[in-house]
Amino acid sequence: MKSRVELSIVIPVYNEAESLPDLHAELTAALSKLGRPYEIIAVDDGSRDESWEALKRLAAQDPHLWAIRFRRNFGQTAAFAAGFDAARGDIVITLDADGQNDPADIPLLLDKMAQGYDIVSGWRQDRQEPFLLRRLPSIVANWLIGQTTDVRLHDYGCSLKAYRGEVIKNVRLYGELHRFIPALASWMGVRIAELRVNDRKRLHGKSKSGISRTFRVLFDLLTVIFLLNYSARPMQLFGRLGLASSGMGALIGLYLVAFRLFYGGSLLDKPSLWLAVLLVIAGAQFVSLGLIAEMITRTYHEAQGKPIYAVRERVEGRV
Ligand code: UDP
Ligand code: MG
Repeated sequence: MKSRVELSIVIPVYNEAESLPDLHAELTAALSKLGRPYEIIAVDDGSRDESWEALKRLAAQDPHLWAIRFRRNFGQTAAFAAGFDAARGDIVITLDADGQNDPADIPLLLDKMAQGYDIVSGWRQDRQEPFLLRRLPSIVANWLIGQTTDVRLHDYGCSLKAYRGEVIKNVRLYGELHRFIPALASWMGVRIAELRVNDRKRLHGKSKSGISRTFRVLFDLLTVIFLLNYSARPMQLFGRLGLASSGMGALIGLYLVAFRLFYGGSLLDKPSLWLAVLLVIAGAQFVSLGLIAEMITRTYHEAQGKPIYAVRERVEGRV
């Protein structure tokens, strides 16, 4: 059965009061032409300006608009997550509230989705932002994420993206992980396409992020690499580290024993003795950490009722 709403547009809003009316008008123009039932879900992430009043005013005129207001500022990822939880559409489209993404690109995203993709990611052309502080870190980050997760996209940071509803509902977001959604979703097997989209200048308000974001993205990347490769089998990682560490320790220890047997003398003045002991102990620690992580993994999957697989389609038998 088709749901009543086919398209859900999810927009995180933090101090964007001045941009909202134009954005809403542009969205309405683009969406009403499609002739598909849609909803717009705006999540006010604890704005301190008039954003909430602006949203309420728009919602009073437009039955498509749903607005959610956070009690405080939880960050863009949380705002996206709230939008995804509320979304009812078969396809969920995200974009920023500042007008930098162009709603006119939405029909193109949908065309691409119709070709059978699960995620279509915007790739901003002619970025309107300064090279050194914005575009360069983003080029490096995209390259790094591509190398380490095997989901190669030119522009992870672009908010304009389309997702199949059942895909996005299966991605749990924490921290600042929203920009990694395509990589996180890749574990379940998704078809991902890129689409060149328009990038526009921010006309009102100001950007909420600075260069410090680069570092946060780096730590998040470590989390994502771990989640993707080892979260279902952490012992594979910690076991290997433990084996490497204990192995090195044992080798150094053996060498020292041989040294003592052939040359006599004391080992106490040999710093490498301490290194050997340290490595063996660290190795044992890694293995225990692996065991604990294995137990946590089980809780993690079972507490969420989260299977370790994802099904694309089924054919049902007739008996
Ligand atoms: N945003 C949010 N919560 C925050 C910071 C930002 O919901 O704590 C929203 C913001 O209103 C905008 C989008 O996330 O719609 C992107 O933010 P911004 O334009 O500041 O980032 P940039 O485009 O400069 O990377
Ligand atoms: Mg912006």
